[in-house]
Amino acid sequence: MLTLDNHPTGRHFLQIPGPSPVPDRILRAMSLPTIDHRGPEFAVLGRRVLEGIAQVFQTRHPVIIYPASGTGAWEAALANTLSPGDHVLMYETGHFATLWNRMATRLGLKTEFLGLPGIEGWRRGVQAHMIEERLRADREHAIKAVCVVHNETSTGVTSDIAAVRRAIDAAGHPALLMVDSISGLASADYRHDEWGVDVTVSGSQKGLMLPPGISFNAVSPRAIEASKTARLPKSFWAWDEIIEMNKGGYWPYTPNTNLLYGLAESCDMLLSPQHGGLPAVFARHQRWAAGVRAAVNAWGLDIQCADPAVYSPVLTGVMMPEGVDADAVRRVIYERFDCSLGTGLGKVKGRMFRIGHLGDCNDLTLVAAVAGCEMGLKLSGVKLAGSGVQAAMDYFASNAVRLAQLHSG
Ligand SMILES: *Cc1c(COP(=O)(O)O)cnc(C)c1O
Repeated sequence: MLTLDNHPTGRHFLQIPGPSPVPDRILRAMSLPTIDHRGPEFAVLGRRVLEGIAQVFQTRHPVIIYPASGTGAWEAALANTLSPGDHVLMYETGHFATLWNRMATRLGLKTEFLGLPGIEGWRRGVQAHMIEERLRADREHAIKAVCVVHNETSTGVTSDIAAVRRAIDAAGHPALLMVDSISGLASADYRHDEWGVDVTVSGSQKGLMLPPGISFNAVSPRAIEASKTARLPKSFWAWDEIIEMNKGGYWPYTPNTNLLYGLAESCDMLLSPQHGGLPAVFARHQRWAAGVRAAVNAWGLDIQCADPAVYSPVLTGVMMPEGVDADAVRRVIYERFDCSLGTGLGKVKGRMFRIGHLGDCNDLTLVAAVAGCEMGLKLSGVKLAGSGVQAAMDYFASNAVRLAQLHSG
């Protein structure tokens, strides 16, 4: 049983790259009574969240909201647009790309998994030229979709989605472009319409600062067109009924009402013009990431992302020196300092840990998180070149921003 009565004093430091800390303002919004999801009050809420979340995706087209984790929205993206045996081109950036690829196979799709060999592919973003070459070779247009991850949460590497769209267009190929931005949305700049994405998948518990439990498909007119002839079985995930009911602010089945209260609050916070809107959100994540990287560099440890052009603003992967078990270090930091860090997943299990710096953070919480890491690394016997805490403080102090930009709303 969870013994909440011996919870430590102060705040737990939830520094994993999702779920991210939920701001008090959102927790309070979610504590309102659950209302009739067929009543008139609900329609106001429904229309408000649909309008707000579309702005966050930077789209003028529909966004479908599911009462499911991000994985459900992955399945929805594939099931709505593809038919059994369809050929799908995926790109291996890390653990989440690998899981999406596995799901596609389990759904009866024929997948091809492009990528750089070994761990190299897990340290860099999507190589768009490889996608272009592969699509050029597909003269019969057997490939129906290209699937990539925008912010690979297992590694701390982003990918240039606009470049993937350019690659598809340069090859003159009609494949749909599907993107997982589960951990990128509302932290890293993301432009569904401008980048020509057909389906974007996202979830609630990362940049949107909500608890886990809702997820999204942002869709293009081409994706909706494809859904009319796609033959993979779907019912719960089917876009058509949801989009139809959403016109009135309702859903075909019981939506996650209290999470939608939270979503309305989250959109207000992210989009608030007096706090700079989305550009300020993206800028503060870039800044936090740079401060945390300054710390890792000062420690003399390697950052998992090997290409500075695609450092993630959401999280930083910290690689351990040879012979150090990253999970043992994480355990010390958790047990001694009540700070949770992300574990290494898949190919990098035990070799690195992940510091999340997304959502409801600020300079001081990140300096404290870095301090927890530094103390835990030292206690674990890891030799550090210098003080990461000092480096992070120096970075944040010399890169001051207006207070308004520090606030989430
Ligand atoms: C968190 C995450 C997922 C999985 O989402 P769930 O909500 O756990 O189902 C998938 N892809 C990426 C990139 C993620 O960060």
